[in-house]
Amino acid sequence: MTNVTRYRDQFQAAVDTVRQEGRYRIFRDIRRKKGAFPRATWFKDNLEEKNITVWCSNDYLGMGQNDCVVEAVKSAVDAAGTGSGGTRNISGTTRYHVQLEEELADLHDKSASLVFTSGYVANEAALSTMSKILPGLHILSDEMNHASMISGIRNARTHKHIFKHNNLADLEAKLKAIPADAPKLIAFESVYSMDADIAPIAEICDLADKYNALTYIDEVHAVGMYGPRGGGVSEQRGLMDRIDIIQGTLAKAYGMIGGYIAADKVIVDAIRSLASGFIFTTSIPPSTAAGALRSVRILKITPEVRSQHQERANSLKARFRAAGYPFIDGDTHIVPLMIGDPVKCQAISDRLIEGYGIYAQPINYPTVPRGTERLRFTPSPFHSDVMLDELMSALSQVWAEFELPREKVA
Ligand code: PMP
Repeated sequence: MTNVTRYRDQFQAAVDTVRQEGRYRIFRDIRRKKGAFPRATWFKDNLEEKNITVWCSNDYLGMGQNDCVVEAVKSAVDAAGTGSGGTRNISGTTRYHVQLEEELADLHDKSASLVFTSGYVANEAALSTMSKILPGLHILSDEMNHASMISGIRNARTHKHIFKHNNLADLEAKLKAIPADAPKLIAFESVYSMDADIAPIAEICDLADKYNALTYIDEVHAVGMYGPRGGGVSEQRGLMDRIDIIQGTLAKAYGMIGGYIAADKVIVDAIRSLASGFIFTTSIPPSTAAGALRSVRILKITPEVRSQHQERANSLKARFRAAGYPFIDGDTHIVPLMIGDPVKCQAISDRLIEGYGIYAQPINYPTVPRGTERLRFTPSPFHSDVMLDELMSALSQVWAEFELPREKVA
């Protein structure tokens, strides 16, 4: 008996549990087509190729197909080859990495920035390192924070306090209970990607000032999309200087891969020097840094893309509102259509893609709490009126077929 045979039943049982709970994940195998986004094709069961429209991509602004970004990547591959060849410390720092970090620091009006292999790694590495720098640190974390922040905070192995989502009274009560001279850090997001709501950033900064806490904001779902230059909601609200550490991704609005923090030089220097998730891994390829650099530069000077993006999201929300669908009517570009049952959510998603070529991936536990399963629509500037018509027509038929109620979620 091999060791795999010995343990097979336990692995199978774990998968069976996930399946029974209706949250077994089926990855849709899609072929993206440059120039056609959000149109794509789907390989159904690896057999049949079907035309679809992608309604759930985090390539929010379609920068993953932008000609200038693609060209920057291609020419960097021609110039520098493929991989970076090392960790940042051991031959893996190139001109592109350095320029990208300068650009990101400038974007957020900070004296430095640091690029990681993903937004997940940026959160995990930066937050888990904070307690090495600040012994006895108390981290206050919004209960809806992303898994990467939760993991980083857990790995910091220090005092942690989970405050109720966007709840200033609860945050203040928790801050007040911590000894006045203890180091503190408040970790939260700007745009919460599943509920499409935004943190009260100014008020959180006020509390941070009152209780001498550092502020750490995840702007993953906002950079490139909000603010005059795409610096995120903190830029839009004129609050960048009040946030100590701004974290972002290069994988969503910027259409590439990688994550970063931007902060004062001394903070970046300490994290650069101590964070395992930064030190002990190969840096992103030079071409990725080059593509991200171009993407950040383009979005800095094209506010009209941000306006088009918001206009498309507002159009979709207006149509959902008029049709009485139970969606979260927030202030962001994310439009979650609430289903509230994992099996039904999967079935509706299957019906939409199979019957109508509408691709919206079901979002289940643990990404969202059980009973709040949803289809999360993320319109881009490239989602045309025709595509909106197609979506509304498909949804109307599927809604009737599944006998779902039409009501508005507050
Ligand atoms: N923070 C938040 C709020 C996220 O939603 C995500 C990814 N969905 C991340 C961090 C991780 O970013 P990345 O995909 O670049 O790893």
